[in-house]
Amino acid sequence: QVKSQGRNALCFFDPQMQISISLRAQLEADLQAALTARQFVLHYQPQFHLDGRMVGAEGLIRWQHPERGLVAPGAFIGVAEESELIVPMGHWVLRTACEQLAAWQGNPRLQHLQLSVNVSARQFRQRDFVARVVEVLRETGARPHLLKLELTESLVLDNVDDTIAKIGTLKTKGVRFSVDDFGTGYSSLAYLTRLPLDQLKIDQSFVHNLGVRHTDDVIVQTILGMARNLELDVIAEGVETEAQKKLLAQYGCTYFQGYLMGRPVPVAELEALLEPAATTAEDLDMPR
Ligand code: C2E
Ligand code: MG
Ligand code: MG
Ligand code: MG
Repeated sequence: QVKSQGRNALCFFDPQMQISISLRAQLEADLQAALTARQFVLHYQPQFHLDGRMVGAEGLIRWQHPERGLVAPGAFIGVAEESELIVPMGHWVLRTACEQLAAWQGNPRLQHLQLSVNVSARQFRQRDFVARVVEVLRETGARPHLLKLELTESLVLDNVDDTIAKIGTLKTKGVRFSVDDFGTGYSSLAYLTRLPLDQLKIDQSFVHNLGVRHTDDVIVQTILGMARNLELDVIAEGVETEAQKKLLAQYGCTYFQGYLMGRPVPVAELEALLEPAATTAEDLDMPR
């Protein structure tokens, strides 16, 4: 049993902290047990088009710990990624998201929603990654074009040929791809043109100081210009203020995700954003 340091358990496994080898091993064991005990939950942060429509959400994993409460991924995902655990964990996330997509089918208010999930390097590099995704889509009945896989720049660049082959195969099935935390890695036009991507996701670190730090405005404008030429969608993450959203829109950004529009929430709360206060059958029948 890992001893919690005071009430702020979230900081306990902060990846920035030096975690001793024994604590790391203990956390790994705890994560393994948590997988078996089904203690992970997927929360959903809404994503919006410029016109105000909710287009979908990003699935973000949380650990519903029996004593520590809801633990954010920053406290454990790093350790999971360094071990093999991220593979079954990532697979659970993928399956959960696909089951959710399937559950929304047939509901006219919800069936258009897309779901993005984060895929870590070790998971993506598994030999059977493509086969597993195809299998989950088939088993759940989720529509592939509603599933978006978020890959980081460093993952994409690490083995470009393998990346191109895997993305290429999944693209033929309809699955979409987004580059997460874009701009923080080794952005290279050369690889961007080689990869059949759909979306770039501007890292929140650039969004944070928009209108304040001139270089960040330049970076964001450059990313948007590049994406326009490559015909890629752009979503900005970490949008917290109206001022940031306004500048992003002015620079040509069309999709937004951030606390300004909505925090990551359990699925029922996400659905409620689209079915507001429908308390009676009459309400449900009302035209909107
Ligand atoms: P990410 O994929 O870049 O996700 C965005 C993170 O920014 C999320 O943190 C989200 O809650 C947070 N965020 C969203 N809007 C705002 C905002 O307006 N302001 C601020 N300050 N933060 C905002 P979260 O959920 O703690 O996840 C952190 C990271 O953990 C994710 O970054 C992702 O890299 C990783 N992660 C989360 N879920 C999974 C997963 O299922 N699999 C893998 N491999 N990684 C995951
Ligand atoms: Mg992400
Ligand atoms: Mg991100
Ligand atoms: Mg990030």
